[in-house]
Amino acid sequence: MRKQRHPPVQANRRCVLRGAARLLGIGAASFAVPTVARISAAPQNAAAKRPTAREIIKITRLETFLVKPRWLFLKIHTNAGITGLGEPITEGRAKTCAEAVREVEPYLVGKDPRAVAHHWQAIYRHAFYRGGPILTSALSGIDQALWDIKGKALGVPVYELLGGPTRQRIRVYSHARTPEGIKQARAQGFTAFKPGPAKKRPARIVENKAFVDHVASDFAALREAAGPECDIGIDFHGAISPQTAKLLIKVLEPYQPFFVEEPVNCQNVEAMADIARGTHLPIATGERIFTKWGFREILEKSAASILQPDLCHAGGITEVRLIAGMAEAYYAALAPHNPLGPISLAAGLQIAASIPNFLCQEQVSLGDGYIKNPFRVKDGYVDIPLGPGLGIELDENAMADKIGHDWRNPESYDADDDSVVDW
Ligand SMILES: [Mg+2]
Repeated sequence: MRKQRHPPVQANRRCVLRGAARLLGIGAASFAVPTVARISAAPQNAAAKRPTAREIIKITRLETFLVKPRWLFLKIHTNAGITGLGEPITEGRAKTCAEAVREVEPYLVGKDPRAVAHHWQAIYRHAFYRGGPILTSALSGIDQALWDIKGKALGVPVYELLGGPTRQRIRVYSHARTPEGIKQARAQGFTAFKPGPAKKRPARIVENKAFVDHVASDFAALREAAGPECDIGIDFHGAISPQTAKLLIKVLEPYQPFFVEEPVNCQNVEAMADIARGTHLPIATGERIFTKWGFREILEKSAASILQPDLCHAGGITEVRLIAGMAEAYYAALAPHNPLGPISLAAGLQIAASIPNFLCQEQVSLGDGYIKNPFRVKDGYVDIPLGPGLGIELDENAMADKIGHDWRNPESYDADDDSVVDW
């Protein structure tokens, strides 16, 4: 028997939309007007031409705004009163990303926001030049906002649309660079932490024993403060040469870091794979890798067993869900990167609740001062979000003094000869 392409969902869809409106606190009357008006305006004798549910929500406007300390938030507005939130940003290039979003706006305005995967393909492929941090960050924030709208329109969290929940709570980790910082983070409820390697100056290509010993003794102090039950990752930020990275990893092994992140820059995947082969510690990478095509080589060459796609860079929720599937086939796990705001965190939590191979979610803000009902950590975990879409709502009043910034990436130079170095 031939399957119905469109089940008769008009009435049910209206009920769902009204339910979503109630959840969102939108007046039922104001939300129902466009639906009822459009349906009643349809020709009585042309059922095939009757507007479907797919025609009742259209994008009307894309709005971006800079948010302190260095973020860029996006609101996608619709004619149904539903607004989608996203963070379309590459750190240090907020204004460039805002312009990239503006260039996509003419494509999206007038279209149904719920065809998320279709719009992802169109925005990515019609750009002709594919990938790269600016274009995929703009796409990522738009993708988050489209999922937010879709979830709100249906009255369910995004993870419900992706087959979740796959877990009941989500582990998060905190940045902590000193024993005191670890104690404070533990007091806040965290059980996983991440510092960088302790260094008094940028690392040289081949480091001396004093530098290497300092990194080891500093990490030993962090392990002492955290205890053996907690997890401590360490992030080399891709700012260490392969030669020195091998020296550092060797002395860190006895303290069993959770993972070693970006032991070298990811532009030469074979160099990272060489390091991964030389240690039993898990290697992590991904914040500067974009889309499934970027992660393909990492997996194929076993350069990392923990992937850290950034929900704001790698292609948004749509793409990170696919990257997670690729990783699963290689027994790799996901620990999404996130040094950004609460919308990015909310998107990461939706992924965590949708995939089987989730390890831990990075965060630098649980949303205090930015969203109503900020996330809370208990015993290392936050509860899975229950609200529709991304499950958050901006606190516009609290954000009033945080609009605008001019954040720039720091400049780093060698202490001895003033040449440019990574930070
Ligand atoms: Mg990093």
